[in-house]
Amino acid sequence: QGNKYWACFKSNLLVILTLCGVFLGIILGVSLRGNDWTPKQQEYVGYVGDVFLQMLKSLIVPLIVSSLVSAIANLDLSLSGKIARRAVCYYLTTTPMAVVLGMILVVTIKPGKGNVGDWDTDPNGTKSNANTADTLLDLVKNLFPPNLIEACIFQHRTVSLNDTTKSETEIIQTTNILGLVAASVGIGIALAQLGEETKTLANFFHSLMAVMMKVTTWVIWLSPVGVMFLVAYQILQMKDMGLVLESLGKYFGTVCLGLFIHGFVVLPTIYYILTRKNPVTFIMGLAQAIATAFGTASSSATLPVTIRCLEDNLGVDTRVARFCLPIGSTINMDGTGLYEAVAAIFIAQVRNVDLGIGKLIAISITATAASIGAAGIPQAGLVTLVMVLDTVGLDAGDVTLILALDWLLDRFRTAINVMGDSFGAAVVNHLSRKELLALHKEVPEVKTVV
Ligand code: ASP
Repeated sequence: QGNKYWACFKSNLLVILTLCGVFLGIILGVSLRGNDWTPKQQEYVGYVGDVFLQMLKSLIVPLIVSSLVSAIANLDLSLSGKIARRAVCYYLTTTPMAVVLGMILVVTIKPGKGNVGDWDTDPNGTKSNANTADTLLDLVKNLFPPNLIEACIFQHRTVSLNDTTKSETEIIQTTNILGLVAASVGIGIALAQLGEETKTLANFFHSLMAVMMKVTTWVIWLSPVGVMFLVAYQILQMKDMGLVLESLGKYFGTVCLGLFIHGFVVLPTIYYILTRKNPVTFIMGLAQAIATAFGTASSSATLPVTIRCLEDNLGVDTRVARFCLPIGSTINMDGTGLYEAVAAIFIAQVRNVDLGIGKLIAISITATAASIGAAGIPQAGLVTLVMVLDTVGLDAGDVTLILALDWLLDRFRTAINVMGDSFGAAVVNHLSRKELLALHKEVPEVKTVV
């Protein structure tokens, strides 16, 4: 009995510690609030949290490039092109649907409104001098960085001069993630087509992804301390805690409502329309994987359980399950995409930044890209959220506003991510049933590194 409790405690240690960090941060922040501290002194309290944030930010580029290139290079297009195309097509359709659903909910519910002036809002908002057309044109232009090294550091932005008939291009010191995503997709496809010839390079990206996942895991173990200081700093700066809590509660509810609608209404409906099979039976057969996803907060760690549920309980062809699910757990994250869109717009609402239609479109594209780029490990979505904020000119440091709740939301969105991968594999299985019978070659097992 004692051993059971100890094992349970050990496997949930990070959550427990992170929770302790949140509580200690609240206590620290509340107890320091009485002091009449200058902004400079308050910043010292946030110092450790800032270091933690910088660590997270440093992971973004290598994590996104390595996971995208190695995921696409692993597709092996020549071997089972049809199955791959169907899987990618399904995944790339459902994620934007989740993102748009989240955006509709957050724009309608407005969880970040009604407390302007109570948070530490910057009256000028964030700087953005371009109009909607320029924002969209910049977005497309940034997809094609002239120099990949430069894309790791800078991106181009069009600014209107006082005389609005003229504009000029400004180079800003923000990583051009979209450009890196586009380049990674190109390299991944080239590697997949060249196959054996470029095996060494493909292996390099695969190893780099494994290393980045490992380093990310270490950094995430620092989150209890990082979170504690970030929460304390945030509380120290807040003017009316009641309103802030009310605002975070609404944000939490908005994300959960979106996840619930996507996982239990949208995906089952698509499944039913395409396969004519009962989605309730499907979800029940997947319960073990959903519970594991909630417990581990990692799609990759859940992968073996997901494969078993699909093969043993739901009769999905082994070749399809083992081909689609590893790819899905890397590139298909409906829950993460939905959460990132809601979080970015929530932060804009809190900061009183008016997002025009151009920026909303930019958010929908970058949230989809960021969810594809996020690794299937705990809180990877929080790392790539910074990219969405950067793209629309919001302060990346504002992830602190939602950090306190992220450990919990992570569990909910991971469960929806796993459900999305599984529904996708089942749909592909159904659509490919004829070809599967005629398929001579065996689809090789795709290994993922957890
Ligand atoms: N933890 C999520 C997953 O593994 C990724 C995220 O942070 O959103 O699917």
